[in-house]
Amino acid sequence: MAPTIEPVHTHPQMPASTTVVIIGAGIIGLTAALTLAERNIPVVVLEKGRIAGEQSSRNLGWVRKTSRHAADIPLALAADRLWAQMAERVGADVGYRQAGIMFIGRTEAQMAMHAGWLASVKHLSLDSRLLSKREIDALVPGGQGAWAGGIHTPSDARAEPTLASSAIARAAMAKGVVIIEQCAVRTLQTQAGKVSGVVTEHGEIRCEQVLLAGGLWSRRFLGNHGVSLPTLPLTCSVLRTQPMDGPTDIAVGAPDFSFRKHKDGGFIITQRGKLDAFLTLDHLLLGKQYLPQLKAQRDFLKISLGKYFVDDLRLSRRWQPDDVSPFERVRVQDPRANAGLNADALNNLKAAWPVFERAQIAQAWAGTLDVTPDSNPVIGPVAQIPGLTLASGFSGHGFGTSPAAGHLAADLVSGQVPIIDPAPYRFERFA
Ligand SMILES: Cc1cc2nc3c(=O)[nH]c(=O)nc-3n(C[C@H](O)[C@H](O)[C@H](O)COP(=O)(O)OP(=O)(O)OC[C@H]3O[C@@H](n4cnc5c(N)ncnc54)[C@H](O)[C@@H]3O)c2cc1C
Repeated sequence: MAPTIEPVHTHPQMPASTTVVIIGAGIIGLTAALTLAERNIPVVVLEKGRIAGEQSSRNLGWVRKTSRHAADIPLALAADRLWAQMAERVGADVGYRQAGIMFIGRTEAQMAMHAGWLASVKHLSLDSRLLSKREIDALVPGGQGAWAGGIHTPSDARAEPTLASSAIARAAMAKGVVIIEQCAVRTLQTQAGKVSGVVTEHGEIRCEQVLLAGGLWSRRFLGNHGVSLPTLPLTCSVLRTQPMDGPTDIAVGAPDFSFRKHKDGGFIITQRGKLDAFLTLDHLLLGKQYLPQLKAQRDFLKISLGKYFVDDLRLSRRWQPDDVSPFERVRVQDPRANAGLNADALNNLKAAWPVFERAQIAQAWAGTLDVTPDSNPVIGPVAQIPGLTLASGFSGHGFGTSPAAGHLAADLVSGQVPIIDPAPYRFERFA
């Protein structure tokens, strides 16, 4: 069952035209919409299901620089600044707390990985530092784990996925953005080789620019227009506990569990060591591009072939504007939580911090990530379709950077100086 987000009363009626159409009311589409609206640019956001119904409400809420690729850190630093101002900007709490993030390792090999990352970002002067076992015990008391060490970034943070998207959506609407739920975009319309509008299940909207922020569906949407975006779906299961006394306010990631405090006093827990890879045709079509990742992370994936393969095959890959599209067939991607992985996570956590013996499970859910071959998103124009900008493929870490990623997408759509250098996110890198 998906987490419940703060309700938002969206618009019942679609306008005939606007300047920018945004496809997808996840946190990326919404932050882009807010940024454009602040520049007085008319925007319509179209969402096939409900606001933040997919990844953007299901994520863990970690806002981190730690373990990001060096090229992705300027975006994370820009996002830190924007998160810090977000409550004031949108006039509502988004659960942002700069309580720090810590990763801990059991083996020297795991610690070498953390040390290697720290060396790779030395030029960025982050506040990350390696920790000894004694320092871990001091920061997170009551532990029994045999840790080789850890890495801690006090300026890393968390925010609440169930608050943030709704608050941003409401603020965007107050500035004139039209958001329509239950409205799938089927295809783009073009005139003289440039985007001129979109065809939705409820009719057409003329526009000058389209921003595609469709999460894991962007690949299928672009595929119908003959453009290949390499993203693969991976599924992550999550637990939330009832409010309880925990050992720390810091978010902690170990090799086989993670936990972070929830705004209601409970904890959000996941099995960090395993993701479900439910095979689909795309895994077979794109697998080769992911071989380096697969080699490095083979043990992280629980690969299985079953229902998802068949369900996915049944969804069209090519359709016409008057056909019912795959986006109407799957309003909200709601995978079943893997009870085994969730139980492992909680058991591993209990063994490390026995205070979690008292944890009562309040809710379990899963969400599907859109992962690119280099684990970084695409934020940039699609050269084959002038007037189309893409912001997708956030590879399991797009919530943390979302305020800056949406801002960057809005900069590119509106021709403003980009908030950071967009070069690492160019679509062409996968050509
Ligand atoms: C379990 C889990 C844990 C995670 N933990 C973290 C974390 O701790 N920190 C972090 O930084 N990131 C995390 N992530 C990743 C993060 O949630 C995503 O990177 C981020 O939410 C992506 O936002 P998005 O707007 O691109 O996608 P989404 O939230 O998936 O939104 C895309 C939206 O587009 C809509 N859409 C698609 N196609 C169409 C169409 N044709 N017409 C209309 N609407 C359409 C979809 O219905 C969907 O609502 C996690 C993800 C998951 C699933």
